[in-house]
Amino acid sequence: MKGFEYLQEELEQMKEQGTFRKLIPLESDQGSKVVINGKEVIQLSSNNYLGLTTHPRLVKAALEAVEKYGAGTGSVRTIAGTFTMHEQLEEKLAKFKHTEASLVFQSGFTTNQGVLSAILSPEDVVISDALNHASIIDGIRLTKAARKVYKHVDMEDLERALKESGEYRKRLIVTDGVFSMDGNIAPLDKIVELAEKYDALVMVDDAHASGVLGENGRGTVNHFGLDGRVHIQVGTLSKAVGVLGGYVASSRSLIDYLIHKGRPFLFSTSHPPAVTAACDEAIQVLLEEPELIEKLWDNAKFFKDGLLKLGFNTGESQTPVTPVIVGDEALSHKFSDKLLEYGVFAQGIAFPTVAKGLARVRTIVTAQHSKEELQEALDIFEKAGKELGIIS
Ligand code: PMP
Repeated sequence: MKGFEYLQEELEQMKEQGTFRKLIPLESDQGSKVVINGKEVIQLSSNNYLGLTTHPRLVKAALEAVEKYGAGTGSVRTIAGTFTMHEQLEEKLAKFKHTEASLVFQSGFTTNQGVLSAILSPEDVVISDALNHASIIDGIRLTKAARKVYKHVDMEDLERALKESGEYRKRLIVTDGVFSMDGNIAPLDKIVELAEKYDALVMVDDAHASGVLGENGRGTVNHFGLDGRVHIQVGTLSKAVGVLGGYVASSRSLIDYLIHKGRPFLFSTSHPPAVTAACDEAIQVLLEEPELIEKLWDNAKFFKDGLLKLGFNTGESQTPVTPVIVGDEALSHKFSDKLLEYGVFAQGIAFPTVAKGLARVRTIVTAQHSKEELQEALDIFEKAGKELGIIS
């Protein structure tokens, strides 16, 4: 069809630069191994930290919910699409996060957009870490608030921004809890100290910390012992929780406000019963099977130590998110292609997702991987890395 020539030009440029990517469909479920192009490979690209996507308890809960309540909900939450199970899940999440209330959105992405766009006005300022996730950046773009960006995890720069923000009605500091491309943990304890000193609110996006950090995977706030001192916690139900969705856990008044003003919440149909029931069961699994989180961390340490021993650069990673930084964008994609050829699925990630010159293959091990699978993956990283001159 004609009409998109203006986009085609840019696509051709991407092909020349080696940054054009095709989607890679899985022909299996999301496990420690997946089938791609008819071949079984070790999965190191998913966010399925605890292997919950295929956990029998979640699958059973989803099936039972479909049989009892059907496939869809037929309405947005505020009209006719709130089922008792939606409210039950929100109560469970609030309890889990030690907050007064919580609200589920269709995704982690729309949670950030919905919260930020609802609570900030032109008389407020939002102060954001330079490496925050795209959904935070887009959420900020939707507001008319003043914006300041502080250098990544740089507390002096954050303090500078706070000092310059005295005249605003509200100051909101927003940060990822675990940074999705580097796997480092935000210094939330220091952020909270500064927030208290300069009378600012704190919002943390725990997409990669929910189910990973803190007691039973409660997230970074719990990890730092900051319960009750962080105003807004965003979590995702799509990563360690294994299903789909996002949520915000906070005070009753903020949640009531979002029920009236959170646009993605207001104007998009509620989660189907299968999703809601599986998420509910997942939180129960987090509470009852803490050994999954122990296994995740044990596997992450084994794999990271192995990469470092081989001479790879894993940057600042402190969590199971482990980048293998190669620098050049085309090289990161070549590396990823070679890994796939040899039996490991680990995606190359380049600009604009990460800064130019810091392209990488990002890995995430899960609790599902066996040590044998991880050792096999390390052997493949060694072979591909040496062939491409990334390690010697
Ligand atoms: N925040 C962060 C930090 C993320 O990494 C992601 C997922 N890429 C999201 C939010 C969005 O979450 P979801 O996939 O549930 O929309």
